[in-house]
Amino acid sequence: MDYQAVLEQIVQDIAPQVGGGRPAEYIPVLASVDPSLFGMAIAEVDGTVHGIGDWQRPFSTQSITKVFTLALALAQGGDGLWARVGREPSGNPFNSLVQLEYENGIPRNPFINAGALVVTDQLLTLNGDASNELLGFLRQESGNPRLGFDAQVARSESEFGDRNAALAHFMASYGNIANPVPTLLEHYFRQCSIEMSCGDLALACRFLARHGLRADNTRLLTRSEAKQINAVMLTCGTYDAAGEFAYRVGLPGKSGVGGGIVAVVPGHCTLCVWSPGLDARGNSVAGVAALDRFTTLTGLSVF
Ligand code: GLN
Repeated sequence: MDYQAVLEQIVQDIAPQVGGGRPAEYIPVLASVDPSLFGMAIAEVDGTVHGIGDWQRPFSTQSITKVFTLALALAQGGDGLWARVGREPSGNPFNSLVQLEYENGIPRNPFINAGALVVTDQLLTLNGDASNELLGFLRQESGNPRLGFDAQVARSESEFGDRNAALAHFMASYGNIANPVPTLLEHYFRQCSIEMSCGDLALACRFLARHGLRADNTRLLTRSEAKQINAVMLTCGTYDAAGEFAYRVGLPGKSGVGGGIVAVVPGHCTLCVWSPGLDARGNSVAGVAALDRFTTLTGLSVF
């Protein structure tokens, strides 16, 4: 497959949609990002990377990190995690509180904020430094030792973090948070603030296309765990638009409000696309369009 030619075709086809939507507005540092930026990268399972546009420019990974914390929590702690967080699409916005009361403080899935807070809490209990554990993992898998937290984003997340604090306290009231809420939030906000490029992210999620094998060929997850994470990405990875994403793209995917989306073609490659303009559900407008074109042009989808 000539991936570079595919990327060039995609850029031509989606040009009218680049700049569509609006950057996230809940914190000023994200609101000021230029919405006309666009980058896309493909990492083949052997580590060969192809990229186009702003694919080497770091951006705020935000909720995309929820995939990696889930993988680490499962790898280190096993599937007991699923007693604390479900695997069903929420059909509600990513920061919603409403289902928690009906479901006794058990979040619907690990990819909405409530579920990700539980996963980070689990990781904290397992090794005491969840955000640095995550950063170390991302540096290794991407091969980029310069990856880091964006202190300004982390501070802003905290300053405007009332909703996430409410989610964490509410779950703690049901006994579903083990660590002190302020410590948990600090790690969660740092996790959201990690800056990576499309190239870094495409490389870092290769273990999901390689059935659980890390970049150095050691095993992070069993084949079956890798399949399970891909399944949860497909059904829950793009918030309350996961049905539409499966319909249009047909790949496991995970988006973040920084405008990035990662997607996995198991056994073939991983993709990351970034463009900061979001739709009403918080997914990148040009990003979804580009992945839609990718699966249409290549026929590579899980369906
Ligand atoms: N930092 C964001 C939040 O917690 C992440 C959400 C997202 O990317 N959807 O609200």
